[in-house]
Amino acid sequence: MKIATLLIVSLLLSGCVMSPTSSLTPQTAEAKIVIAHRGASGYLPEHSIASKAMAYAMGVDYIEQDVVMTKDDVLVVLHDPYLDRVTNVMTVFPNRSRVVFGQRRWLAIDFTLSEIKRLSMTEAFSVDEKSKQLTASYSQRFPLFKSSFRVSTLKEEIELIQGLNKSTGNKIGVYVEIKAPWFHLAEGKDISKATLELVKSFGYKTKQDNIFIQCFDPDETKRIKQVLMPELAMDLKLVQLIAETSWNETMRITPEGTLTAYNYDWMFEPGAMEKIAQYADAIGPWKPMLVDDKSTRGNLIITDMTSDAHKAGMLVHPYTFRSDDGRIPDYAENFEQLLEIFYFKVGVDGLFTDFPDKAVNYLKALD
Ligand code: CA
Repeated sequence: MKIATLLIVSLLLSGCVMSPTSSLTPQTAEAKIVIAHRGASGYLPEHSIASKAMAYAMGVDYIEQDVVMTKDDVLVVLHDPYLDRVTNVMTVFPNRSRVVFGQRRWLAIDFTLSEIKRLSMTEAFSVDEKSKQLTASYSQRFPLFKSSFRVSTLKEEIELIQGLNKSTGNKIGVYVEIKAPWFHLAEGKDISKATLELVKSFGYKTKQDNIFIQCFDPDETKRIKQVLMPELAMDLKLVQLIAETSWNETMRITPEGTLTAYNYDWMFEPGAMEKIAQYADAIGPWKPMLVDDKSTRGNLIITDMTSDAHKAGMLVHPYTFRSDDGRIPDYAENFEQLLEIFYFKVGVDGLFTDFPDKAVNYLKALD
């Protein structure tokens, strides 16, 4: 059913007048989107090209890419600036780590693309300091270091999605996150500019194009909107991701040369959404920022963030919806009810999920 028809039918049924908020965000299943978080990452290693093809075949609206830069300035699709959470870099290049963020890491920025292409990629894991034993971050997911996966470049991944758009006739979008721009800039690399130039070369130039650009760093999101995109004659949809200050997601280098966390607290103050709407088209909040974790099955505590963002004219795309054991908040009976709460009680416009088939099927069943 067309969105307009559904809206008219639902208005007739409910007998109420549409509020300004509902005109911005029609509460129909057809208008809601599913973003494949790092691909179909609940089933195959995150950001592997296989997980992206699987997500594509599941009928999602957008597929997510997290982007970092190599030593030779190639954009690669990795969640972290380091390689040691999802590859065998520590055995292939045992002496190539350095200490950053207070941790010993093998950084993508210290390796060329051809070196990175030699690595095996796998599910996320952690390493026990003493025993050197690997533990999968999600015990029920794809087994560690089975089959054959490699780190992809952003170019290869967009070629995959645009290639599938050609061969299937679908129009699936890309949802690109620029990771740790403060770190790349400190290392002399303008990752945002390089990312914009690359997506422009693939034809993504305007807000009508099937792309979102997301970033956790508010100063960088503003620079993209106010400086980089005008310079490149582009105007893409921008998403301001929202973190807790304590996560150390966005850092600043002090005059003394130490690192200090960017303070996100202003984003939770009244009026914050109007401020963000001056440079962004959407917010990407953590889901407890929209539904308080103190909520219970009989008493959902929904914050004002979604309605404030909608009033400011922005879309709301929270992260991350996972159906693994122990990952569904207690206030929802099951994953489908969690989706219902966010899509229709909170009223978000889309969401990031590791299990995109479940969200696609949930929305399809409502059509
Ligand atoms: Ca991301």
